[in-house]
Amino acid sequence: MVVRNIGLDVKPPKSGCNDPACPYHGNVSVRGRVFEGTVSTSKSPRTVSVERAYLHYYPKYNRYERRRSKTLAHNPPCISATTGDHVTIAECRPLSKEVSFVVIDRKGVAE
Ligand SMILES: [Zn+2]
Repeated sequence: MVVRNIGLDVKPPKSGCNDPACPYHGNVSVRGRVFEGTVSTSKSPRTVSVERAYLHYYPKYNRYERRRSKTLAHNPPCISATTGDHVTIAECRPLSKEVSFVVIDRKGVAE
């Protein structure tokens, strides 16, 4: 099976798949933003919800507030991230109405 080089500094998965929407084994290019987060929901097939925490500056009090957001991402079978996994997601073309990110790396359960 041919593993494509996605142009980012991540290790490709050991297993293969025949998902056309896989960045390594299909024909989806990644470009744009790259985020790290934790999988909060993996109930739907081949899609995960990734939650990401970040700090937002609040000028009035010169402090940061914690914010979090959820992003839906395609989860190819060769990566198959599950709830609690720490993952890297990369922006790609819109794969469906709500999904325009794809999981490119899985680091296991976040500490
Ligand atoms: Zn794959």
